[in-house]
Amino acid sequence: MKRFIEGEDRSQSVLFPERLDDYIGEDNPVRVVDVFVDELDLATLGFEGAAPEATGRPAYHPATLLKLYIYGYLNRIQSSRRLERETQRNVELMWLTGRLAPDFKTIADFRKDNGAAIKKVCSHFIGLCRETKLFSEAVVAIDGSKFKAVNNTDRNFSERKLKARLAQLEESVGRYLEELDRADRDPTRVTDARVSHIKNKITIIRARMKDLALLEPQIEASTDGQISLTDPDARCIATSGKGTAIVGYNVQTAVDLKNHLIVAHEVTNLGHDRTQLASMAIKAREAIGSTELTVLADRGYFSGKEILACEQSGITALVPKTMTSNNRAKGLFDKRDFHYVPETDEYECPAKQRAIRRFETVEKGLVLHKYWPSACPRCPIKSRCTTGEYRRITRWESEAVIDSMQERLDRMPEIARLRRQTVEHPYATLKSWMGATHFLTRTISKVGTEMSLHVLAYNLKRVMQILGLQQTIQMMKA
Ligand code: SF4
Repeated sequence: MKRFIEGEDRSQSVLFPERLDDYIGEDNPVRVVDVFVDELDLATLGFEGAAPEATGRPAYHPATLLKLYIYGYLNRIQSSRRLERETQRNVELMWLTGRLAPDFKTIADFRKDNGAAIKKVCSHFIGLCRETKLFSEAVVAIDGSKFKAVNNTDRNFSERKLKARLAQLEESVGRYLEELDRADRDPTRVTDARVSHIKNKITIIRARMKDLALLEPQIEASTDGQISLTDPDARCIATSGKGTAIVGYNVQTAVDLKNHLIVAHEVTNLGHDRTQLASMAIKAREAIGSTELTVLADRGYFSGKEILACEQSGITALVPKTMTSNNRAKGLFDKRDFHYVPETDEYECPAKQRAIRRFETVEKGLVLHKYWPSACPRCPIKSRCTTGEYRRITRWESEAVIDSMQERLDRMPEIARLRRQTVEHPYATLKSWMGATHFLTRTISKVGTEMSLHVLAYNLKRVMQILGLQQTIQMMKA
C-alpha cells in the first residue's frame, strides 16, 4: 500500500493540552538566553525601568526586551520590526517572553535607550568566560574589519565627490537645454508633453544643485574633509580591493587565541588601524584580567608610537614592519642591509663601513637620528646603495623597541598563520550572520550598541559549542 506521513488534523482537539515548555527541548539554546538574562542584575547594569513605576501604564520589564534582542542576534533577526513579527509566531520567542509581543517601536527604543547597559552585559559575559578560564595564557590577536553603515554611498560627500556630482548634474542640464533648443527650432519633432517633462526635470536638477552647493562649507568645516547625510558619523573607508570603498565603520576586535572568543571590541570611523594597537591591547588585557599580554596584529597596525606605548604598558606586541622604502625595487640596498651596533651607536653598512650618528631631527612628532659613513664618495659599491653623495640611514630614538620586536618575530615564524586563524574566524562568522546587510542604527554610539549585541551573540554561541548547553547554564548560575 502506498502512503505518506500524515500531519495532525487542525480541527482535532487534544485530550491533554500541551504546555509551551514542551516545545522547547532541554538542549535548546533559548534556555541559555533565559538563564543568562535572569541571572543579571539589570538595575546595577543601568537598564532603564528595572524597577516598576508606581503610576502610569505598566511597562515591559527590561529583561523581556533584552532576552528578545539576544535571541534575535543569535538567530540573525536584528531588526525591531522583524522581532515584533517573530514574537507573534515563533514558539521559542513565545516561551522566552511568556507570550509577550511588544511593538517594534518599544523594541527599537530599548536598544536606543540602553546602549551603555547593553555594552556592560557584553563585558559581563566576557567576565564570566574569564572566571571559567576560557581564555588562553594572555595572547590575543587584534584586527579591524569594515562594516557598512545605514548611509548610502551617494549620500557621502567629499570635496572631490561633490565637484564630480555637480559636474554630472550640470551636464544633464546641458543635455536637456539642447533638447529644448531642438524643440524651439522644430516644434513638430518634440511633443508638448516631452517639453513640459524636460522643463520639470531642469527645475528639479537645479534645485538639487542648489542643495548640493550648500554642502561645500560643511565639507570644508569637517575635520576629515567628508560628510555623511544619513549617518553623520559614518565615513567613506577604503577596503583592500580597488574601487570598493564603503561608507561605514571600522570595527576593531581583540580575539583570544585559545577559544577564539572576542575579548574586546571597539567601533571606530577611522579609515586605518595605525592608531588602534595600544588602546585595544590595554582593553583586552583588562578584559582577560591578566597583568601580561602578548598581542598579534598585521602590518596595518605597525606604528612606532603604538608599539612603544604597548611596551611601556607591559604588553608584548608582535607586528610585522611595513615596507615603505622602494629602494629594494630600484635594486638598491634597503635598511635591512645595514646593521645597528648598539655598543657604539653606529650602523655597519654593506661595504663594512661605519655610519656614525650625525644629527637629530623631529618629523611627525618623532625624534629621528641620522647616520652616514664618511667613506661613501669613494665606495666601490656605491651604485648599489645611493644616488646621492652619502647614504643616509634614519633611526627613531626608540627604535630599539622595534628591533627587539623584530627579533621575537624572527624566532616565531608561525605567528602570521596563528593571527590569521584567530581573527578571521569571528569576522567570517559575524559577517555571514549579518549577510549583505549593514548596521541598522545611526551614529557611532548606537552602532557600538549593535556591535556589542553581535559580539555577545557570537561569544554566547561559541561558549555553547565549547562547553555544551548544560555546562554553559551552570557557568551562568555559578
Ligand atoms: S655607499 Fe656608503 S653606505 Fe653605501 S655601501 Fe658604500 S660606504 Fe656603505
